[in-house]
Parts: sequence; C-alpha cells; structure tokens
Amino acid sequence: MLTIPASRPNAYTGSPLDRVSDRRDDADFVAAALASKESLIAPVWRSKSLLRGVEEGAPEAVLLTREAAEAVLMAGGHDQSTWALLGLNGGTPVFAVDCSAAEDPLPLLPEGMGAFHDLRAVAGLLPPGEASMLAHARGLMHWRTRHRFCGVCGHTCEPRSAGNAMACTNCNAQHFPRTDPAVIMLVVNGDECLLGHSTRFPNSAMYSTLAGFVEPGESLEEAVRREVKEETGVTVGACQYHSSQPWPFPASIMLGFHAEALSREVTIDPAELRDARWFTREEIRNPEAAGFLLPRVDSIARRLIEDWLEHAP
Ligand SMILES: [Zn+2]
Repeated sequence: MLTIPASRPNAYTGSPLDRVSDRRDDADFVAAALASKESLIAPVWRSKSLLRGVEEGAPEAVLLTREAAEAVLMAGGHDQSTWALLGLNGGTPVFAVDCSAAEDPLPLLPEGMGAFHDLRAVAGLLPPGEASMLAHARGLMHWRTRHRFCGVCGHTCEPRSAGNAMACTNCNAQHFPRTDPAVIMLVVNGDECLLGHSTRFPNSAMYSTLAGFVEPGESLEEAVRREVKEETGVTVGACQYHSSQPWPFPASIMLGFHAEALSREVTIDPAELRDARWFTREEIRNPEAAGFLLPRVDSIARRLIEDWLEHAP
C-alpha cells in the first residue's frame, strides 16, 4: 500500500514547553519555580481553559502571573492545591492549576482575564503552541483530580514529581498520567474511501473516518482491522501509519492510519453508526454537491482524508 505522508502538523502538537521531566524531582528547582514572580499559570476550571478574545473570533490563551492567580490558587481552601509543573517556556516555568473547587473562579481573577471555555470549540483558531499547552494542562489536571485514591489499596494518594505523578500514602504504589491509544483510519479501495456517520455526531450530515480504542494485548494494526470489521463488516488488509494527534479529552491519543479494504459490502453496527458508505474522490472534493459534510479542518480525520486526496494515484 502507498505510504501517504502527513502534510502538516496535527492540532494540539507543537508545544513550546520543555517538559523538564528530569528536573521534576529536584525539590529546590521546583520550589524556586513555584516561588518565582516570573512563573505563569494555566488555570483549568471543570475541564475548561481560560481564554480571551473568543467572542471576537480571535481567541488566545490566558496565562496568569503568580500574583494574579493567588486567589484562584487558594480556592476551595485546600491545604494543597491541585497544581503541576508543565515545563519551561524559554526559561519561564509554566504550571497548570485546577480551580474547580471554586463555584465561579472569575471573580477571583483580575479584570480582563477572559472566561473559561471548552478548548475543543476554539482550538482551530488558537496559535498551535497555545492549543497544545492548554490541552496538556487540561489532560494532566483531569488525571490528577481522578487519581486522588490508590487503585491498588484505596488509600489517599499525594502528588510527586511536581504534580506529574501520584504516590499512595499507604502502599507506596506509584501512579502516572494515562494516555489511552485510539486508532483512527481512512479505509480506502481504489478511487473510493469509506466514511461513517456516528450515532454520536451532533451534525446529521457529517461523515468521518472510523475510529476506536486499542484493547489490551492488541497491536495498532489489529485494532484497525477489528474496529473496521465490527463497525462496517469490511475486511481490511494492509495498514499504513500516517500521523498522531494528542486528544487529552480526557486521556487519548489518536493514531492515524490509511487502511486498504479487501471487501466492499457494508453492514453497519447500529450501536456505533447510523450509516457508512463509500465515497468517490469526486464526492470528497465536492461534499456540498454530494450532500454531506467533512469533519472539521483541524481534525486528524480531515487530514487523513485530504492527504489521501492529494497523494493517492
Ligand atoms: Zn495504595
């Protein structure tokens, strides 16, 4: 099968941060970073990110100084706020802080700091590095707030490694942030590709690539073949890796493939899909004329489709 190269970086990649994973356990370094007036803080409130300019259609990430974030850091009266060191931007430490304990965090911030929004709604309009940084903050804080107790013995966990790990206070088990692999694949057959309309799509006209989670003990290629078979009944042969897209909403990474169909008959799984069918290149080039919508421009699904249009013979 033809290798189709990725034409451009995927959304949520390109963070400017040096993650300094080798310095997270250096207590002096972390304490100095925490105390520094220069440090910046990306607040996360109930999985939403602080942004301004959203109404104007020109969103930008808002990072707070230590001083501006003081009240938010104390929100909820925790003796230990949920924070984590994301990394260094240039030399500047950047932290994520979860301020979900506050019923409304905006009054705790200086004026003009924007508002909390779902990052996914505006990520395509943000500078790529900002989208990546905010996705990092959101994914890490989601993991932190859901791993307060040990999965081994059930006792309380406490943060380690500048908030990038949790350790059990009873059995000392170490817990690390999870990233669940999901495969996303454009199934192709000659001049046509297979797209599905998921039962989860809010827009009734949208057709997109198939996707699903990798299961334990399964290779990525096996997951591609299983998911396509389960959802559409189509048999897949060769699979070619294309690119990946972080998807920490809450904890995934999308691994993109082009997959060659060995059969054509489509039998959908109605629990997953409302419809799936073969589209010609001509239809993909003119979705309006064909009466359907392609996935969003900033999605890896769209990239798999566009790169196939560009590169396939
Ligand atoms: Zn434990």
